[in-house]
Amino acid sequence: MKILTIVGARPQFIKAAAVSRAFTGREGIDEVLVHTGQHFDDNMSSIFFEQLGIPRPDHHLEIHSLSHGAMTGRMLEEIEKVVLSEKPDFVMVYGDTNSTLAGALAARKLHVDVVHVEAGLRSFDMAMPEEVNRILTDRISNVLYCPTDTAVSNLESEGFENYDCRIVQCGDVMEDAALYYADQARECSTVLDDEGLATGEFHLCTLHRAENTDDPGRLQELVAGLNALSRKYTIVLPLHPRTRIALEKQGLSLDARLIQPVGYLDMIALLDGASVVLTDSGGLQKEAYFFNKYCVTMRDQTEWVETVEHGFNVLVGADREKLVAAVDQASGKPFVRNIELYGGGRAAERIADDLIANV
Ligand code: UDP
Repeated sequence: MKILTIVGARPQFIKAAAVSRAFTGREGIDEVLVHTGQHFDDNMSSIFFEQLGIPRPDHHLEIHSLSHGAMTGRMLEEIEKVVLSEKPDFVMVYGDTNSTLAGALAARKLHVDVVHVEAGLRSFDMAMPEEVNRILTDRISNVLYCPTDTAVSNLESEGFENYDCRIVQCGDVMEDAALYYADQARECSTVLDDEGLATGEFHLCTLHRAENTDDPGRLQELVAGLNALSRKYTIVLPLHPRTRIALEKQGLSLDARLIQPVGYLDMIALLDGASVVLTDSGGLQKEAYFFNKYCVTMRDQTEWVETVEHGFNVLVGADREKLVAAVDQASGKPFVRNIELYGGGRAAERIADDLIANV
């Protein structure tokens, strides 16, 4: 069975590393890796390949820094060539980026089966590029691996049982990655020492969603809230390149402790050591829960509704007062994890078993 895996952005390297590891040693699986190039800085791309032990991509398309349409179009064209030359049994795509959509579309048009990992998630906000990518990718996928029951019911309510596809709830591959790399992070990461941080005495923040960075009003409001919080707490913020550019463009200054984007092992060490997580990232909302930290999410809605339903996460939108109040409330509050929300770290194994049994 030949699998063509498409990755391009930071969270996809992490997800694909977990699934590829589950393929290793299984007879009859031949995986070919395509890196579209969507994320290209060393600290957004190569460091993940090095730290997560991902093999060098078989095809590196080097497509980045373009508008959504141009980027997706170029990827579609190049991935089509790779699919034609590699002749895979199916193409595997992850998450909700332009690389995901381009990979799925290129394969489907060539009548090659599409497998979507992290299917069925919805924010119900069609202004988000990720929402468009995930809905279209789901619709043309043949196998949909869903991380949660909510993801399965989202697909059911869109009528997916009438389509020619298979829906499988397998749990979240991000939990597999978090558990697997946690020991390595504890052993190898020196980020806390390097940054002079003490466990439990800082909050970890990430901010990069286009809905926040590209909307001057929202960005201003969030910067004001984070600056107010920075007077009370140490807020460590690995700054995404998109946010750096947006801040410069809008002449805004963030008083948080800004650091360069970090590799995954350092990120785990920061998550492990943090008191509270503030974010607009999808991945971080769950990672906060994996590492027993409350999360304050700077978005109006989330795909990971179960974290909110169970009280581990709170949505504050781009409202500075709500942000400050939620962080104050979460600071120092003991975290009690009384439920298993994401499958317990066996998602990748389930995917590999299911593929072998059914494809
Ligand atoms: N991440 C990282 N270094 C950073 C910021 C994030 O390793 O400086 C990891 C994070 O732990 C998570 C993934 O990248 O596993 C999430 O990526 P991102 O927030 O870019 O995307 P999203 O999850 O929102 O799709």
